[in-house]
Amino acid sequence: MGRDDTESARVLYHTYMKLSIGMPITLLCLFAPGLLVPRLAAAEWVERVEDGIMGTRITVELWADDKAKGEAAIEAVLAEMRRVDEAMSTYKPTSELSMVNAHAAQGPMKISPELFDLLNTALDYSRVTDGAFDITYASVGYLYDFRKHVRPDEKEIKAALPGVNYRHVVLDPAQHTVSFTQPGVRIDLGGIAKGHSVDRGIALLQGRGVAHALVTAGGDSRIIGDRFGKPWVVGVRDPDHEGKVFLRLPLTDTAFSTSGDYERYFDENGKRFHHIIDPKTGDSARKCRSVTIISGNATRTDALTKSVFVMGPEEGIAFINTLPDVDAVAVAPDGKVFYSKGLAPPDETSAAK
Ligand code: ADP
Ligand code: MG
Repeated sequence: MGRDDTESARVLYHTYMKLSIGMPITLLCLFAPGLLVPRLAAAEWVERVEDGIMGTRITVELWADDKAKGEAAIEAVLAEMRRVDEAMSTYKPTSELSMVNAHAAQGPMKISPELFDLLNTALDYSRVTDGAFDITYASVGYLYDFRKHVRPDEKEIKAALPGVNYRHVVLDPAQHTVSFTQPGVRIDLGGIAKGHSVDRGIALLQGRGVAHALVTAGGDSRIIGDRFGKPWVVGVRDPDHEGKVFLRLPLTDTAFSTSGDYERYFDENGKRFHHIIDPKTGDSARKCRSVTIISGNATRTDALTKSVFVMGPEEGIAFINTLPDVDAVAVAPDGKVFYSKGLAPPDETSAAK
């Protein structure tokens, strides 16, 4: 990604301007550029990096026919992400999701169609992953504070673990309500809401006619189009070295997510406690170091990174191989890299002969 493309795109644009507007204006531009710049719409890459929404970094990069329109489109994406954050954050006591956690054990609660649909999607992922992805992980998960190095002890996990089971969350499509079957159940959408917000942002951009864009929220991204005949090239980092990339993926028109044990964590006596929780044990999942998923939408790639992470590389990749629209890369604790069928590198010996 980067300068080369931008430069060549600019050259292309100027060539186009010369051909379409004609010689007189081109000449004028040469002699008095300042005079015309404010009036001419200038096509270019427009980018914004924003920290703090959904507790993470948001990046929006797009090709805009007109810079002001591009900036407005980015503003719309960020506003949409703020809106999703307001509704779905468990850090905000006033969010719709916090209300659900406070009241759903007492009986059915009417919720917005958007939250209903996302909860429904989350439960679908729980069913197909046999509970590896489970938003009720939070019944134990809330006892961790990775920034403060706080974790529950065995007794606390044992007491909270009965609350972890996606079957405790009951949705009524006729009434648009959610209820919990018992007290002690908490849900958290930290493993799917960023993907959802990226999909919402992409839909907004598509509605505005944007044909080349990248939207990222934390570990979740989605791409519209390519970079003028070239793919977007995305790096997957080495779990132990922030600046080191072990894999580059050329991608167009797709979503991708990475989950790693290096995002929110602390180490204690050589053991890593991090934010991806195995719903069966209430402990951090330790069969993977990182998982990257590629598929059509970011809600899907977000949910599936946690799923494969909890299943472990062998079982997780075998599961991904049953999904024709999904590819995955998983890094095991010993550094071994596992690829799904669609990404498997060619046989090493064949090229040497
Ligand atoms: P990011 O927030 O950077 O996109 P991830 O996509 O890896 O990071 O999501 C991690 C989050 O997923 C955790 O912080 C937690 O909120 C949630 N989570 C953890 N374990 C599970 C699980 N087993 N099922 C569903 N969600 C989970
Ligand atoms: Mg994510």
